[in-house]
Amino acid sequence: MDNRIRKIVIVGGGTAGWMTAAALSKVLINNYCEIELVESEAIGTVGVGEATIPQISRFNTLLGIDENEFVRETQGTFKLGIEFRDWGQLGDSYIHPFGVFGVPIESVPFHHYWLKMRQAEKFSRLQDFSLACVAAPKGKFTRPMNIPKSPLSQIAYAFQFDAGLYAKYLRRYSEARGVKRTEGKVSQVHQRSDDGFIASVEMESGERIEGDLFIDCSGFRGLLIEQTLKTGYEEWTHWLPCDRAAAVPCMSAGPPEPYTRSTARDAGWQWRIPLQHRTGNGHVYSSQFTDDDTAIETLLSSLDGEPLADVNKLRFVTGRRKQFWNKNVVAIGLSSGFIEPLESTSIHLIQSGISKLIGLFPSRDFQQPDIDKYNQQSISEIESIRDFIILHYKATQRDDTEFWNYCRTMSLPSSLDERLALYKSNGRLYREGDELFSETSWLAVLVGQGILPASYHPLVDAYDSDGMERYLSGVLDVIDRSVDSMPTHAEFIQKHCAAG
Ligand code: FAD
Repeated sequence: MDNRIRKIVIVGGGTAGWMTAAALSKVLINNYCEIELVESEAIGTVGVGEATIPQISRFNTLLGIDENEFVRETQGTFKLGIEFRDWGQLGDSYIHPFGVFGVPIESVPFHHYWLKMRQAEKFSRLQDFSLACVAAPKGKFTRPMNIPKSPLSQIAYAFQFDAGLYAKYLRRYSEARGVKRTEGKVSQVHQRSDDGFIASVEMESGERIEGDLFIDCSGFRGLLIEQTLKTGYEEWTHWLPCDRAAAVPCMSAGPPEPYTRSTARDAGWQWRIPLQHRTGNGHVYSSQFTDDDTAIETLLSSLDGEPLADVNKLRFVTGRRKQFWNKNVVAIGLSSGFIEPLESTSIHLIQSGISKLIGLFPSRDFQQPDIDKYNQQSISEIESIRDFIILHYKATQRDDTEFWNYCRTMSLPSSLDERLALYKSNGRLYREGDELFSETSWLAVLVGQGILPASYHPLVDAYDSDGMERYLSGVLDVIDRSVDSMPTHAEFIQKHCAAG
């Protein structure tokens, strides 16, 4: 008997809905099943979400999207990392780069050699050993080049883009591959009486849309996963106290930088994301420690161009749904949880949810072990990202506001406590399973915010110090010369993917 899923209903047409529609329409070939997406223009989308991490290239490759066309269509720019200002202490600045620091020497990670040299007061700045950290402030960018052993061959990058334009682009892509779009508001959800699975959604017009598998991309409201199935939410406000955001685009002040900026504020932080046609800005803050008017005033008084729209105000609760897949509903996007955009991970979590769903794609009998696996993988992924985000707040020395005093002194999840203890003694960092953030990322934030280990890997002492110093000087020299040879970011865009 053919037990295949006959129809997928996607509720929601924000970035999550259209990314899901596009990927499923590409993968489910030969009219495997019908896909219908329901969205309501009256409700609208979150409308922010502009910075990404390098993994998004894999998603675009899966869809077969030409990268230059994607950048052009979304007014996109390239991103080599994130600059963090005032996070460790007021006046501090560091970059969390994509890519690596230095080069691995034998089997001991590079940073241990740097730690030894730093103790000997030889090389003070880890940042100088990252091509991305050197290139970004100089406004330089190029894609990786095929030059063996050169740092130019190891460039890792992501994009900054207009997520609204991306959703429109993916809508065209999906509709061309047979996805049916229905405009309107879902007013009721009908469940099967025997097992509580969703049977159909009912539109305000009275039309009923039936399906076998429902993807909840309805945003924070979680129309199916929460409002209907009451799945439950695990809140993380005690570790991630920011719960509001105010966002506003402004005119560009100059050529777009190839990096995102995050500036710590009195009760949160502010993003700055340069696109081709404008700069995206937003202030993420905690309502326990400031009020909306002060937060908006902080945002508007620090723009570097004329605002281009009214301030968009958002509220959220950091945390995750207790199950990401419940019965025949898979929550993807904001309906599944929200960490906050400090490391631009939400769009990645959408992509990762889609990829896990494809890997565990069900038949109509919905096997519970598949669902359990999906939930287990999703929870472990989002919790490891959560720990990395908490690190930014905890690893501060700021004591100038109540917010930072709270963050500096808060207790941590045990998983993060263990990781920090390991680092603080001998600088050891590790990546477990398929965790998103690598040792480079942890190191960038820890060192960038002034947390240095007491010592380094003992095996480093097997190497001659003078030779090591010469070697590290050589690495710096190669990075500097490589950056000098790169075009500017603006030149690169102009040549390959200007939106016109
Ligand atoms: P939404 O955009 O809210 O879309 C929900 C959809 O559901 C809409 O189409 C709506 O019409 C529809 N809908 C809801 N209810 C109904 C109904 N009853 N009937 C019919 N349709 C309905 N991510 C990043 O990766 N990088 C960033 O830099 C970044 N910055 C962010 C900053 C902030 C302040 C916030 C809040 C988020 C940010 N994100 C970022 C996250 C990113 O914006 C979201 O992950 C992404 O936009 C996906 O949203 P979504 O599609 O899940 O939800």
